Amino acid sequence: MGDTISLKVKEVVRETSDSVTVHFKQPLFRKVKYKPGQFLTINFEIDGKKVSRSYSMSSAPNLDNTVAVTVKRVQGGLVSNYVNDKVSAGMSISMMQPVGKFTLEVDKNLQRHIVLFGAGSGITPLMSILKSVLFFEPKSTVSLVYGNRRTDNIIFQKQLQELKQKFGDRFNLVYCLTQPDRSWTGLTGRIDEAVTVNVVNMLPKFDAAVTEYFLCGPDGMMENIKSGLAKLKVSTDKIHFESFTSSNESEEAIASLGETETHQVTILMDGTEHKLAVPPNKSILDTALDEGLDMAFSCQSGLCTACRCKVKSGVVKMTGGDGLTQEEIEEGYVLICVGHPGSDDVIVEPG
Ligand SMILES: Cc1cc2nc3c(=O)[nH]c(=O)nc-3n(C[C@H](O)[C@H](O)[C@H](O)COP(=O)(O)OP(=O)(O)OC[C@H]3O[C@@H](n4cnc5c(N)ncnc54)[C@H](O)[C@@H]3O)c2cc1C
Repeated sequence: MGDTISLKVKEVVRETSDSVTVHFKQPLFRKVKYKPGQFLTINFEIDGKKVSRSYSMSSAPNLDNTVAVTVKRVQGGLVSNYVNDKVSAGMSISMMQPVGKFTLEVDKNLQRHIVLFGAGSGITPLMSILKSVLFFEPKSTVSLVYGNRRTDNIIFQKQLQELKQKFGDRFNLVYCLTQPDRSWTGLTGRIDEAVTVNVVNMLPKFDAAVTEYFLCGPDGMMENIKSGLAKLKVSTDKIHFESFTSSNESEEAIASLGETETHQVTILMDGTEHKLAVPPNKSILDTALDEGLDMAFSCQSGLCTACRCKVKSGVVKMTGGDGLTQEEIEEGYVLICVGHPGSDDVIVEPG
């Protein structure tokens, strides 16, 4: 499985009443290398149970001294509440090396417009991207459209204000609040299709070829933004998105596997055989979760390896699976979040 590292917590900073940033010390040797927008899959042991969750880094590589993740409480959520309440300076926490495709290559010679749409905790990878572009691409412009309920829910409000002051016209900052108080004069409501069209029309005009869009927030919001961008004739290859909750597999990638039939899959777990009928448009993991199986998973993008399984029989095709090494693939391991059965005799075992 991907390389595991252990990092020491340097500091925990409360950002809002329901979010904290955990700053990890960079090791003296073998520093953690990452790209803006990537995430870490972090391993926790909570009440004797081993669990993993993915968290995007809010720090920017080559700029911030610490590797930082920012975690917002999810109501009833195991790990997000543990991080908000229990993680403290001095703890050593194990995690997998950074991965993720929601990123860009910083290039000081480029002159482009990076437009970021986010809501709530979706700001974390966007923060890393925006700092990287502002500091390391002096000819580029960044626009951030950030949705929240009220002003006191805005994560990184002070830092964003400071960046606005420092970078002036190179950084457009637009907040959109759903429950503002009376003194609020900015945009209100959810970031929907109409807001997207209005905001993009308000932003400085750049050639479509040098404008890239990065979206991170609730799935419904990202769908609305995509339809707004479609109305503005933005080409889909200019739109990048990260989902914190659902599968990141595209319909095209699933269709390219050429599977049109439902297949039977057996999952061997804790000495029990769980039989599933996996339809062609769903991954083995999504089907198992829908059936109520307590499967380990995290990134749902074929990267973090939390859902790794050994194929005991049958054919499993993957739409991705960059998280696996060549040796693991040769040994018959698959990632079931991007795994689809290609025969009726599939038996897989997590591990
Ligand atoms: C690539 C990636 C990057 C991520 N980056 C961040 C980040 O930077 N900051 C951050 O706070 N979170 C991030 N997440 C989400 C994070 O991994 C966890 O899913 C989240 O913290 C909830 O975990 P939990 O253990 O508290 O909740 P669980 O105990 O797993 O879930 C409790 C309940 O909450 C629901 N739920 C789970 N996750 C969410 C969610 N994100 N929003 C709303 N409801 C949810 C579940 O369906 C369940 O009903 C990221 C997820 C992915 C896949």
